Amino acid sequence: MQYEVIVGLEVHVQLLTKSKIFCSCANRFNPDQPNTQTCPVCLGLPGSLPVMNAEAFRLACITALALNCEITPFTKWDRKQYYYPDLPKGYQISQFDLPFSHDGWIAPQVDNEEPQRIRIRRAHLEEDAGKNIHDESGRGGDSQVDLNRTGTPLLEIVSEPDIRSAAQAKACLEEIHLLLTYLGVSDCNMQEGSLRCDANVNLRITTDAGETVATPIVEVKNLNTFRGVEAAILYETERQLKEFQKSGRKLGDPGVEKETRGWDAERNTTFAQRGKEEASDYRYFPDPDLLPVTVSESQLAEFRTHLIEPPASRRQRFQQDLGLSGYDAAVIVNQGRELAEYFEAVVSLSGDAKQTANWVTQDVLRELNSRHESPGEFVITPEILGTLLKRITDKVITLKSGRELFSALLDEADEDRLPSATRIDELIEERGLKVVSDAGALDTAIAAALAASPQAVEDFKAGKQQAIGAVIGKVMKSLKGADPKEVRERLLQQLANS
Ligand code: ZN
Ligand code: MN
Repeated sequence: MQYEVIVGLEVHVQLLTKSKIFCSCANRFNPDQPNTQTCPVCLGLPGSLPVMNAEAFRLACITALALNCEITPFTKWDRKQYYYPDLPKGYQISQFDLPFSHDGWIAPQVDNEEPQRIRIRRAHLEEDAGKNIHDESGRGGDSQVDLNRTGTPLLEIVSEPDIRSAAQAKACLEEIHLLLTYLGVSDCNMQEGSLRCDANVNLRITTDAGETVATPIVEVKNLNTFRGVEAAILYETERQLKEFQKSGRKLGDPGVEKETRGWDAERNTTFAQRGKEEASDYRYFPDPDLLPVTVSESQLAEFRTHLIEPPASRRQRFQQDLGLSGYDAAVIVNQGRELAEYFEAVVSLSGDAKQTANWVTQDVLRELNSRHESPGEFVITPEILGTLLKRITDKVITLKSGRELFSALLDEADEDRLPSATRIDELIEERGLKVVSDAGALDTAIAAALAASPQAVEDFKAGKQQAIGAVIGKVMKSLKGADPKEVRERLLQQLANS
């Protein structure tokens, strides 16, 4: 029996606006002061009227364009009716048959494979619900509801079921997360719930008799870590396979409905929640309190001015135009927009992309991690690092001296002496790190060192290769900036000629 896993994602993203989507309440994560950011509109009190937040709509359009979606020139709001304590109105304002955008794609990359396109069916805008807080002590305490989140602008991105593995689903969510942080339209803080994901999972099975059947679709709700998405799909694959072998139940059988399951991250399992409502159960109808929205050509042109080069194109450009490896390009781009821009600024000064990539992915990232700083906060600015690396590519100093200068600048910064590009040349001078390229001076120093080490020369001539290490050390000591490789070559030449 062969099978293939089929996955579609629904991603909910909170947009980074000052106020909520239909009222002027603050849009801010504030769990310590529950129910302080509410008003009659988001509480759904009788007689209150919603007004659309144009900034939320604008951010949603910019995101949809970045996801290669088409923007609908005419779109409207619909009421999705259901009852839940965190939804005081008894309905959610959402978009049903006329989402503001549709038909896009994203191309996540799994490891070093070619990126594969995942189609996006639609992206629509809606309001978030509040949050139910249950006593989890097991002592049967009260349940509470915090309505601060009610009315937060929420962008829902729905993919086609194009995903074929748990790893690809994880990569897809990571790529959406990265794109949205590059755009700056959401903080994408998954712990605070700014980015949540539901996964629709089933299997396409080829039976031993050669028949192709599909297992019933399961929607796993509220996955809020990348690892969780991957683990939940792996778990569902195994569970659905066993279930099919046991019951033979398949998609399309009478009485088989879509099932909603939760994800228990601690026990690493999904668990049954409820039978899934069909769209008809929500009794959608157009919201009579809100005007439809039209998007003009000039508005679209304005939205387009906010598009940035997406992470996927940056990875490709770093490889094709700058000659980076796929691995280095991914490490730099996936760290976020600030590091990618830092890297490019350094390259424009150093003129050597590969060397810059080595420094940024190793030395710079190591320092940023240990200092808990962002690239923008780092005292070694792109100008300073670019100047330092330029001295190396120009062969003014050796790579080893470059490392010494890098830590010297950081040490000085820790003693409140701010590093600068001009300080680099001062340090090169102070520490005598300038490469000695004067062949005459080199040869004189080598000859002097050889004359002072007759035993080493004798040992070397007797076949002990490593005996000259000490002589090279002597030369390096007298000419600090000399290139050890060149010293070695010239020394061997002198020995051969003697
Ligand atoms: Zn409000
Ligand atoms: Mn939704």
